[in-house]
Amino acid sequence: MTVEAKQMEKLYAEITEPPIKLRVCEPLMKGNEFKYVTEAVKTNWISAKGRFVHEFEEKFSKFCDTKYGISTTSGTTALHLALHTLGIGPGDEVILPSLTMIACAYAITYTGAKPVFVDSDKETWNLDPAKIEELITKHTKAIMAVHLYSHPTEMDWLNDIAEDYGLWVVEDAAEAHGALYKGKKTGSLGDLGCFSFYSNKIIMTGEGGMITTNNEELAEKARYYRDLCFLRRKRFWHKDIGFNYRMTNLQGAIGAAQMEYADELVELRRKNSYIYNKLLTELSQTHPGLVLPPEKADVKNVYWMYSILVEKEFGMSRDELRIALRRKGIETRRFFYPLHTQPIYRDRDDPRRYPVAEALSEMGVNLPSSSWLKEDDIAFVVQAIADAVRSR
Ligand SMILES: *Cc1c(COP(=O)(O)O)cnc(C)c1O
Repeated sequence: MTVEAKQMEKLYAEITEPPIKLRVCEPLMKGNEFKYVTEAVKTNWISAKGRFVHEFEEKFSKFCDTKYGISTTSGTTALHLALHTLGIGPGDEVILPSLTMIACAYAITYTGAKPVFVDSDKETWNLDPAKIEELITKHTKAIMAVHLYSHPTEMDWLNDIAEDYGLWVVEDAAEAHGALYKGKKTGSLGDLGCFSFYSNKIIMTGEGGMITTNNEELAEKARYYRDLCFLRRKRFWHKDIGFNYRMTNLQGAIGAAQMEYADELVELRRKNSYIYNKLLTELSQTHPGLVLPPEKADVKNVYWMYSILVEKEFGMSRDELRIALRRKGIETRRFFYPLHTQPIYRDRDDPRRYPVAEALSEMGVNLPSSSWLKEDDIAFVVQAIADAVRSR
């Protein structure tokens, strides 16, 4: 990070007035969440045993058009469990985009394998499949496709490469519940799909995660490792190292309630994006330089966080814009820092460059995106952007 970028981050963090009116993402719970959680408590079923966890797994896997759903404690543990289930461990390498959330790399590191970063694609903001093959070595075991900011990765291309080299494909669909690639749901496009239900995600349980798959053997294995490697026939007798990554019935209760209107939760995010697109397109007539979120012809983006790029042409930097919005009570987020720049993953001997990931990271900003936003809320954000750029 440059000195200037550091200062801007600090400046943003120090603003306390006015209080935040619009946050980037807050949950929407308007269904049976309270009723089901109460039922879990009243009936004494609060651990991982209990009807809601099972119900949530059934409904969510169906939502993804997959046969199996294995719930976990978080998206991070879903990713780790997925990689462990595939037998990935020390000495192995897993290819993933540099521009993504830290949990993706952590999950690889937990297994003892090495994360290998690939640069982004300018258009979709996801990993660039054209740059994958040069990274494949005899140690490469898997590719992690992260559908960043809800736009599905170019999966046909990726799956072809994986097939040619005998690699596993893990999808990180934590930001893309309900998104489509060529008519197929995310979470069903690779060997194992991973989701997060952290409270800002499109479908959420507070904390939580899920693996989705059509592969029965992998589903069985994932359940086995998730549940401390208990053997069905001889309880408390263990042949492998397992994990306790079980979701509780309290989270399951929220999840089961969310699934009763999951399609609506997705459509609300899309409705937000239409309003943003319309108003920002109007603004661009007089003030060009904002890039709207991508949606290629063969995908359905679900706009988890409505995300834009602020180009030089706009006349103010992404960070200046964020500060101006914060002064009006509007919270925003910058895009993730590329993983190859993170203190924990920086490798000075890495000869590779990641110009697209770095550029996106410096230009990208997530605007308020909660499912319950009203048209007026979005108009308020866009007006604040217009005021900021006009008062330059
Ligand atoms: C949110 C997120 C995760 C992590 O999920 P948690 O439930 O917070 O552990 C992983 N990958 C991506 C891309 C995410 O956005």
